[in-house]
Amino acid sequence: MDAEIDVAAAPSGAGCAECDEAQGWWVHLRRCATCGHVGCCDTSPGQHATRHATTTGHRFMQSFEPGEDWYYDYVTEQVFDGPELAPPRSRPEDQPVPGPAGRVPPTGAATSTEPSSNRGLWWVESGVVVG
Ligand SMILES: [Zn+2]
Ligand SMILES: [Zn+2]
Repeated sequence: MDAEIDVAAAPSGAGCAECDEAQGWWVHLRRCATCGHVGCCDTSPGQHATRHATTTGHRFMQSFEPGEDWYYDYVTEQVFDGPELAPPRSRPEDQPVPGPAGRVPPTGAATSTEPSSNRGLWWVESGVVVG
């Protein structure tokens, strides 16, 4: 398992790599523990963290939210404790949720409506990431 976690891989950026490219927005950020790719969670419109895992086979990710250090294994679908990754270990604390500032639709739909496909990881979002 350790071979697939690279503690020296720096995060790809302060926000979801794909969303930043497409001027999109996200709810929570997840960091690939293998290559450092930062993607958005399954509550986000893009769900790029899960897409990254399925397209690359990188099975381990860690929360990229401040104060959170839990890992998730896409293969076993288990949350677990892993090693400390290269800093920074979370997005900037002043970045809003959902974020980033200026790109979230002003309707408020971001937090009140969950995508219908948000089934697989609902317990990660609601059970581990309270708030
Ligand atoms: Zn994204
Ligand atoms: Zn990766």
